[in-house]
Amino acid sequence: MSEIRYNFLYDRYVIISPERLHRPPIGRLDTPDISQHSPRSTCPFCEGNESKTTPEITSIREAETKPNQKGWKTRVIPNLYRALSIETPHLAQTHGIFKYHQGFGAHEVIIDTTDHDSTLDKWPHETFVNWLTIMRERVTNLRKDFRLKSIVLFKNHGIKAGATQTHPHTQLIALPVIPTQQLELYRRYLHYYQTNKRVMIEDMIVQEYSDNMRIILESHSFVAFCPFASEYPFELLICAKEGLSRFEYISEQQIDSLSELLSMLFKRLEKVLGKFDYNISIEIPPLNKDHSCEEFYDAIDSITRFTMRITPRVYMLAGFETTANMMINPVSPERAASKLRESHSAR
Ligand SMILES: [Zn+2]
Repeated sequence: MSEIRYNFLYDRYVIISPERLHRPPIGRLDTPDISQHSPRSTCPFCEGNESKTTPEITSIREAETKPNQKGWKTRVIPNLYRALSIETPHLAQTHGIFKYHQGFGAHEVIIDTTDHDSTLDKWPHETFVNWLTIMRERVTNLRKDFRLKSIVLFKNHGIKAGATQTHPHTQLIALPVIPTQQLELYRRYLHYYQTNKRVMIEDMIVQEYSDNMRIILESHSFVAFCPFASEYPFELLICAKEGLSRFEYISEQQIDSLSELLSMLFKRLEKVLGKFDYNISIEIPPLNKDHSCEEFYDAIDSITRFTMRITPRVYMLAGFETTANMMINPVSPERAASKLRESHSAR
């Protein structure tokens, strides 16, 4: 049984999840080629192996095909080695001076595509559209459960990024609490808005356009750049140019625009970095109000804009990074941006 425990000393939560120990060992650093561990015939995420997964929550599939059978384009399942479950009673508890929740929440896997070996630089436009559409559906749906307060939506690709399964997939963890780091972010957004009567992310974009050194690409509704204080080499931030505050409000037209941008971006990254491991995280603002987010919750639409962060994992993290919670990035964002900008003209 998992528990979400509050760490007094560092003011943050930890999920203690013994179930996660039973995950297959692929992805450990002593297994250099994870692809050989999940051939298509045994890969639970490949088409035709639907019976090897937990029953699907939803899917985008061809007409006339049934759930948990062939014919899907993207499908969502509960994580077999889930850290949290929606069936667990939602109860905040105390133990002496300590606070914890039993493992209530959701842990889902989005199987991005049927194509086992595909990478984002090769994804057709339709795959991006399906991926974004099904994630929007899941966030919208989970938000209706008022016990859930936050969602962490992320993708791990490759061993250095923590992936234990080669088939392209994304994970969603919904929590009954809001991570402290997220609370701090929204308090900064609110403070900036109250002080400047402007949206922090919009001002960041204005400065990026005016500096004209770190912007890589833009589409109708989104812009991608290497942030001024990039923590990872070739880190990228994608922001909504205006309007869009919550990912779950993204329109069909904006999904199209974001898909177009992601496709171009990953082609360039692949050209510059070759095969590389990376994480993607999509920022989902707190889902529902509780005492911890009261001060900014009603202002969310005014103070924030959609962001998606791509962090290539070129180097491993070491003692300094984990101790100081501060990164050392050997590649300046200006240099990374210049490489990514040149990679287009070199075509
Ligand atoms: Zn597969």
